[in-house]
This record gives sequence, structure tokens and C-alpha cells, in this order.
Amino acid sequence: MNYQIAIIGIFLLFALLEAKQGKLLKKSAEVSDDGKVELIGTLVLFVITQPLVLFSAGALMLLIVPQYQGALNQGALGNSSILLHIALLLIFDDMMQYWWHRLSHSTRFLYNLHRAHHNGKYMSVRIIYRNNVFYYLLMPSLWFSGALIYLGLGWTYAFYLVVKLSVITGAHAEWKWDRFLYQTPFLNKLAWIVERTISTPSTHSAHHGLKADDGITNYKGNYGNLLFFWDVLFGTAKITRRYPAQYGIEGMFYANWVEQLVWPLYKTPRKPKTVTNTAVKSETNSSISENAKDILISEPVTNKPDATI
Ligand SMILES: [Zn+2]
Ligand SMILES: [Zn+2]
Repeated sequence: MNYQIAIIGIFLLFALLEAKQGKLLKKSAEVSDDGKVELIGTLVLFVITQPLVLFSAGALMLLIVPQYQGALNQGALGNSSILLHIALLLIFDDMMQYWWHRLSHSTRFLYNLHRAHHNGKYMSVRIIYRNNVFYYLLMPSLWFSGALIYLGLGWTYAFYLVVKLSVITGAHAEWKWDRFLYQTPFLNKLAWIVERTISTPSTHSAHHGLKADDGITNYKGNYGNLLFFWDVLFGTAKITRRYPAQYGIEGMFYANWVEQLVWPLYKTPRKPKTVTNTAVKSETNSSISENAKDILISEPVTNKPDATI
């Protein structure tokens, strides 16, 4: 089976489950920009960015190390274990993406590329690939994946990608597949292993939570994509087996759909002068959430033309 068909099939399965509950196309907290960011962001990733990065990484490798093309499937390394191939992908793709994601919550520039992902005030299959175009274009893990494919991991990568995107889809979906693990006593031990191994709706929802003080939200953690184990290993895991009541980011300046997708090429017009005083005042009054204080924002918080943001 073609791996792209498998990926689309799994996405559609979760999308249909969401639609069945009437929660796919009309979210209660949705604003008009959301659909545009999600549709364009997802299409650009799969039609342009991902093929472009994988191809460019391969072309670079061919230029630098032409003798290693397909090396992991030939010569002395021809019999290298599939487990080694999977380990390489987990480290150079999934672990690198963990660090990229973590860095994106710590630096101003990268956060501006990642904010689109958190701008949606809901969990859904729609937000999985919702990011600024440059977030994926610059993502080291995608470049490493291209290099590994060049070295001969093409088919392993296809299999790995199906598994990885299934987990990520499940972690973002409105349908919380992990709930039955927590509610069934004899599955509790299995739940303990699963939630420390892969991203689940509960742990990833916590990363999208709106209120830093709700006891569930872990905005500065739970960064894992396929493996949640990286969060456990690097000390950023928070497991509650619950789901936040609200999602999104508090206290952020407004950015329209174009800015969310292509910043820094475009910035939403703002009024800096009157705005700065308000922002300073509101920060002094501690009205900005812990989430917003932790993330480094590029503009003062205020001047929101859309009341729902
Ligand atoms: Zn994030
Ligand atoms: Zn997410």
C-alpha cells in the first residue's frame, strides 16, 4: 500500500470521528482566520515544503558525500538491522523535532514561527500541521530525514512516517482515544507505559492548554511528537490523565492569518505608541497569563482588532 494513502486514510478516520460529533468544521471558539491558516499551512507543507526539503537535503548529500548514496543498504552496511534504521530516524528526526519544538517555546524568533499552532483555541485534526511556512522549512529534523533517505532509509522512512503521523494525529484529535485506558482498571499498567512512550491526547492537550494554573496545562513541556519518552528523558513531562477545559494562548498580540503563515515577511499593522503604555500597565497588573510571560513575544500585547482573539 502506498504510504501516502495510509497517512491520508488515518487522518480521514480521525476527521470523520470528529465530524460525527459535529466538531470538525465549526468549533465554538473558532474565528474566521483559523480555517485559512490550517488549510493553507497544511497544503503548503505537503505540496511544497516537505518535498522541497527532502529533495534539497538529498541534493546536498550528493554534493558532499556522493559515495554514501544508499550506503545503509549496500556494501558492509548492506545488512544493517532495521532496528538501527528505526533508531536513526527516532534520534535524527523525532528527537531533533523535540528539541526544535522546545527551542521554539524559548526563543522569540522561533516562537513567532510556531505561534500559529497554538493560536487555535481548540484541539482538532485540523491543527496538526498548522504552523508558519518557515517553521517547517527550517526544521532540522526534516533536513536530517532527507539525509537519511539519501543514505538508503527510504522505505523505512515511509513506514516510520505512517506510524509517526498516526500518533500525532491521535494526539491532536478531538476524539480522546486514551480515555478508555484510564477508565478501565485492568488497563492502567498498560496506560502507564503508553503515556510515557508516545504522545497521547492527554499529554499533548496539556501542551495546548490555555490556563497555566489549571493543574493540567504544561505549556513549557510535553513537546514530544511521536515519542513522549523524550519529555520523560529530558525532564519536561507532565502526566495528569486529564484534558484542559480551554485551549490556546493568552495575552498574545493579534496576528492575522497571513502573519501567522509567513511572518517575518508580513506583519499585521499595529499602533506601537499608545499600545506600549497599555502593555506595560497590564503586565504590571499581572493580567498577562503565566503562559504569555514565559513565551517571548515580538510585539506589545494589545491592539486586537478581533475581539475573539
Ligand atoms: Zn508548541
Ligand atoms: Zn500540537
